Amino acid sequence: MKCSGQNLANCVLNFAMLGEDFFSPIETQPLKEAFLIHKNQALYNKLGLDWDKQTLLKIASGEQTFQSTQPIASIYAGHQFGYFVPQLGDGRSCLIGQVQGEELSLKGAGQTPYSRGADGRAVLRSSIREYLCSIAMRGLNIATTEALALVGSESEVYRESIETGAIVMRTAPSHIRFGHFELFASRGQKVEVKKLADFVIEHYYPHCQGEQKYVDFFNEVVKRTAKMIANWQAQGFAHGVMNTDNMSILGLTIDYGPFGFLETYNPKFICNHSDHEGRYAFDQQPSIGLWNLSRLADSLGSLMDAKQVKAILSNYQIYLVETYSKLMRKKFGFSQKDEQDNALIGQFFEVLYKNQKDYTNSLRQLSNIEQLAKDGVFDAWLILYDQRIAQEDGSNRALLMDSVNPKFILRNYLAEVSIRQAQDEKNYSEIDILFTLLSSPFSEHKDFESYTQEAPDWAQNLEVSCSS
Ligand code: AMP
Ligand code: MG
Repeated sequence: MKCSGQNLANCVLNFAMLGEDFFSPIETQPLKEAFLIHKNQALYNKLGLDWDKQTLLKIASGEQTFQSTQPIASIYAGHQFGYFVPQLGDGRSCLIGQVQGEELSLKGAGQTPYSRGADGRAVLRSSIREYLCSIAMRGLNIATTEALALVGSESEVYRESIETGAIVMRTAPSHIRFGHFELFASRGQKVEVKKLADFVIEHYYPHCQGEQKYVDFFNEVVKRTAKMIANWQAQGFAHGVMNTDNMSILGLTIDYGPFGFLETYNPKFICNHSDHEGRYAFDQQPSIGLWNLSRLADSLGSLMDAKQVKAILSNYQIYLVETYSKLMRKKFGFSQKDEQDNALIGQFFEVLYKNQKDYTNSLRQLSNIEQLAKDGVFDAWLILYDQRIAQEDGSNRALLMDSVNPKFILRNYLAEVSIRQAQDEKNYSEIDILFTLLSSPFSEHKDFESYTQEAPDWAQNLEVSCSS
């Protein structure tokens, strides 16, 4: 069914201007007996949408599309776990329209020409995780695709067991990935590489249209990616599948699968159960970011000279460390510079590691040292820290620290409780609660202290994998 009318008629996709070398028009395959589980009201308002609940459900479940736009699935390639896969693509997601410069995408709306034999669906559990993590990242001020609505259904989907299908309606100014460039570059299609780069620059990097446009553009992608990953490291986020097809050309966190937040501090944390070698372990993310950017650089090789590329790539670490240090200094309440700061921060992490302390909760308690001092493990470190912060102006130090040290993160067990409740009881109240807490993770939410607790015994060995 096609719809039109106020707010629906003019949803034309910029991406469609690229032409059919870059995508295939598709028909969405609606979910059976779909129902709306959650809607992101703030985003809805921001986009100025005025669809009633029924219309939103029809659009988000793939039943109704826009008169002005045929849904499309884009084609891309990518390096997966280090190996080049010549053709991937939107196998289960599609773009259905664009509102106020934001593309609307449905993840799980059925097969496309790029499904490679898979079903084009997404199961409820992984959709809940993506939906909640999108808001968690937004709440943490980390660049991310966003999620507008979550739809459940009675459609059966076959994984290790029979599950039900769901759709996350995502938004981002663009869903273009490094892999889009890799596809055309690997086929020697230089004209298409240039066309894609020109398109991205025109629409998303308009300030890079000078003489050195490709160099400026690439430099900015490097900068944004470094900044995004520095934020991940500071807030303890592990993506889990940093394949180049999961790297956004806008430096947004994209494709939430087997992600995880650091709970007990362990820099070698591997959140993806399928990542046997730890390629995407937490502490590997910064170097993988550079490796991925190098693959993007290879793909843009026909547009830039190798010397320039090398110089830009060498800036990556500078950008990353700059952002990370700035954030960590804020987290520790250091507004002035002191030579010993890095060592002091390093020693804090050693205490966390040795004593298996919770990363998020320990950092949050830095603004309330009596709390941190309670179990004794920080005693020696706190003597040094006390001396250090004596140099600082104490007036609004705690407030500033609390504005960068979240109280609430999407702990795996919290997501799991909401998933089990949804799957077993069709009860979505935990999703509502988590959505609210994660939307403003720096606030106290005093009635929800229990959501800051560390994983209970039953959840110690929860595993998340690529199955979704
Ligand atoms: P991901 O690991 O989710 O980033 O997916 C990697 C590739 O596999 C992408 O091209 C996806 O579109 C595709 N894919 C993953 N799951 C499915 C599915 N159930 N049906 C079709 N394509 C899929
Ligand atoms: Mg992906």
